[in-house]
Formats: sequence, structure tokens, C-alpha cells
Amino acid sequence: MVRRTLATAVAVSLLGLAACSGDGAEKAYPEMEAKEVADGVWAVVSPARSFPDEENRGWNSNMAFVETGEGVLVFDTGSSETIGESLKATIREVTDAPIRWVINSSSHGDHWLGNHAFAGEDTTFLASEEVRSITETEGDTWRERVHQMTGGATGDTTLHPPKEVVAESESRTFGTVEVEMRLVGNAHSPGDLVLWLPDQEVLLAADVAFGDSAPATMDADVRHWIDTLGELEALEPEVVVPGHGRIGEGEAILADLRGYLDTLWETVEAGYERGEQDFEMRDEVDEALADHAERYPNYDERIGESISHVYLQVEEAAFGG
Ligand SMILES: [Zn+2]
Repeated sequence: MVRRTLATAVAVSLLGLAACSGDGAEKAYPEMEAKEVADGVWAVVSPARSFPDEENRGWNSNMAFVETGEGVLVFDTGSSETIGESLKATIREVTDAPIRWVINSSSHGDHWLGNHAFAGEDTTFLASEEVRSITETEGDTWRERVHQMTGGATGDTTLHPPKEVVAESESRTFGTVEVEMRLVGNAHSPGDLVLWLPDQEVLLAADVAFGDSAPATMDADVRHWIDTLGELEALEPEVVVPGHGRIGEGEAILADLRGYLDTLWETVEAGYERGEQDFEMRDEVDEALADHAERYPNYDERIGESISHVYLQVEEAAFGG
């Protein structure tokens, strides 16, 4: 294993298509930094709080990797092959061990479009059945969507769907590291898979957690998401690496998002019971979530559609759905 001190935060250049890493190797844009959050567990956190766009060049989601003693386990690969290549170069700054496993957490493309960067290294790709299926049936749609959202900044991406299905929650030892692969159902989106590392007390929560970032709710089952967050809090993690936004210490980051979703639900439900339409609830929701809105830089961008999503689910619940 080769490890060296990593440079501190590297500014994101919007101009260069490639940047030089410290050892002179060409590293595909965007420039990333790996942060060791526990022994052998590294997070690569995007500074973005938005969907893939021209400014972030498609890099809007977090990724993580674990040195297992018998190869590297990668958790999520980003929104494009270019981003996957950049992640790979970032891993190579930490270790030259083979990358043996890639696990995709989510049915959203910003977590698996980078897979092809890791193909051809005798690497096993794993995901839940829902995620595996969506990478095959909606892969082209996701690739095209990210291409358009970023004005073509993500370049060419070859799809590489995961082949091995994680059929049920299970504890597996990768190298010397015990990993609980937890299928939590449709919280943020169908097929959500989170990793709990009990020895390191690290939760790689993917999109089930957002750090100081308003969550995307278009595919969420919000009541189930709220319950899931409560279950994950009970693990009492030391560190939580969310799918988007900053890393959390302790379970507070999970409780904060649970509070946001719960308040959103309660406020929309109260409005629904008064006979209001979703677009009439904005002021009430803004008031109820004022504390979160101050801390979530993308609140204004997301809250309107989230009210609509929750409204539909409140209505469905009212009809016994
Ligand atoms: Zn995501």
C-alpha cells in the first residue's frame, strides 16, 4: 500500500479539462480530494449542492472507498465516466491496491454513470435488483440527461451496469473489513443501499442522507424515508458520509434531515386538511422550515417541487394508500 500526505483542499478550476496530480500523472477533470474519515475509509465529497449542471461539470454527488487489505471497495462512481476516471486517479493517490469491488447505492445516474472507469480490472460490480435493473433500462436516458444538464461537459460515457445483485441485506467481509450492506427499500429512491461499517462506526449513507443540502424528493417515499433515518440514527455512527453535501459527525446529520422531512410532511398534511392546494402552502412551509432554509443553500431551488411531491403522498395516504 502506498500512502502519502494529500494536499489540502484544491480549488475547482472551471477552465481546465485536465489537471496534473502531485505525482505528475494526468488526472481527468474535475479535481478531487480524498479525506480519510476513519482508518482505511475515505470520502470524496463534492462541493456542489445542485443537480449536475454546467458549473459543477456533472460532479454533484459524493463517493467513498475502503482499503480492505485485499483490494479497494468503491462506493458510487459519479455522474460520468470522466468523473469516474477522476475518482480512480484520486484513489491512486492513496493506494495502488487493485480495485476489486464497486457498489452502486442508488437508482439515480449520478451514482453509477462513472462505473466504466473501473471496468476491466477484474472488478465485481454490485447493486440492489432495482438499481441493477434501472441501470440497464434507463442508462441511456440518464446519460443523455446528464449530458444535457451539463452542456456536454461530462463527455462520452460508456454504460457499465452492475451484474451482481445484493438480494437482501447481508453482512459480508471484504478483505479484512466487515461491511453490512443494508437494503433500506425506497427511501430516497427505489433500491436504496447503504453501507454500515460496524468496526469503524462509519455509515456510507448515499442519498438516504444529505448534509446541509435540501434533498431531491422526486422518487422518494417520504414517510418510509423518515422511518429509515430513525433506524440509521439508532446505529449511532461516528461518521456519516451522505450522498450529497458535507460529511456528518455522529447521527445529527440524519436527525436534521429527518426533522426537515417530518416538518415538511406535517405542514403539507395540515394544509391539505384545510383544503389548500400545494402551491398555496409555500409560505407556511417556508416559515416551518426557516431554520433549515438558512443552512441549506439549495432550499429555494428544491422546496417547491418537494411540496408537490409530498402533497401527492399525503393525498394518497388520506385515501388509504
Ligand atoms: Zn444522488
